[in-house]
Amino acid sequence: MIYFDNAATSLVNREVLDIFNKLTLQLIGNPSSNHHLGFQALEYENKAAKQILNLLKIPSYELVFTSGASEGNNFLIQGIVKRNFRQGKKIITSKVEHPSVLEVFKQLEKEGYQAVYLDVDRYGNLDYSQLEANLDDSTILVSLMSTNNEVGFNFDIEKISKLVHSKSKAYFISDVTQGIGKTDIDYSCLDGFAMSGHKIGGLKSSGFVCFKKNLKINGLILGGGQQDNYRSGTINAPLNCSLAAGLRIYLNSYPQRKKQAKILFDRLYDKLSKYPMLFHINTNRENSSNFIFNFSLLTSKASVVVESLSSKEVYVSTTSACSSKKEQFSSCLKAMGYNDVISQNSIRVSFEGNEDIKQVDDFVSILLDVVNNIKRR
Ligand code: PMP
Repeated sequence: MIYFDNAATSLVNREVLDIFNKLTLQLIGNPSSNHHLGFQALEYENKAAKQILNLLKIPSYELVFTSGASEGNNFLIQGIVKRNFRQGKKIITSKVEHPSVLEVFKQLEKEGYQAVYLDVDRYGNLDYSQLEANLDDSTILVSLMSTNNEVGFNFDIEKISKLVHSKSKAYFISDVTQGIGKTDIDYSCLDGFAMSGHKIGGLKSSGFVCFKKNLKINGLILGGGQQDNYRSGTINAPLNCSLAAGLRIYLNSYPQRKKQAKILFDRLYDKLSKYPMLFHINTNRENSSNFIFNFSLLTSKASVVVESLSSKEVYVSTTSACSSKKEQFSSCLKAMGYNDVISQNSIRVSFEGNEDIKQVDDFVSILLDVVNNIKRR
């Protein structure tokens, strides 16, 4: 099998699963219980949070465990906006964010907030002057992702942070789901961020948000007051401990994976660019995480090719797993200025960074077979 769909979900790390299984049997108490078994589970939970904050070099931040980045993005955006509505109504994001950001912005627009959706150019560069022009006293929130999930370009988080904080009182938060452990991020320049465990070798339905201690934000779930009243509900200490271990392993392997991802990316780029009549490469070499490679088919339908590849045990995505079932085209590629043919027929290849270069060679020869076969029909 060739699994090149790591941006949709990564393969679970064996050690992460072992920790989860072991602790699930060991930590039997409810972390809220007032007895030894409860204290024991809570202690593990608190240690996991501390370990994560230390790994990300932001020991003084607040951490709330979530079910993943969709929940995290919803929590941060709604929690901040609802708490700070008296300060202003302007909220800023970009046209190429994940649906778990864009849909919340659309909903807030219906509720009377003034949403600004920033443009990007063909290479995925943000329009920084448009951002600057929209920063004023009424701006309360800027939400911009670190790495795009469809095309793989990065936004300059440090530059955005400086701009937002020097020109306004707005909070700057980021969806770092595709950037954490895949790019270099200075988390301390963010007021808050959300991530997902299942993109980094962790279990599905795990994740966390971090935010500055003094950030004004409403809680997400009311109830028993767990997680400092931010998210009530019984805590899954084993899951959160496995996530902390998963992050440690993922960050430790980052330098090696980063190097290998570049080798894989370059090989795929060089091979596919030999066939300009068949493929259009959408990921810009100069501004890419190297973990995501996006290209479009010029002679066949992406959905047909992805299905045919799947029957040969080769797994890639059409656009992103979240939007590929709903939409006929990639709104991200449209926002980058691409025409219908390109934005309707894109394929996303995404690496973990441990794959062998031979897998890229095999992928390209199977892809060429599939595309040429369809052409002949
Ligand atoms: N943001 C980005 C950039 C993503 O790639 C994803 C996963 N497709 C999410 C958010 C949502 O993550 P989760 O599956 O954990 O809800």
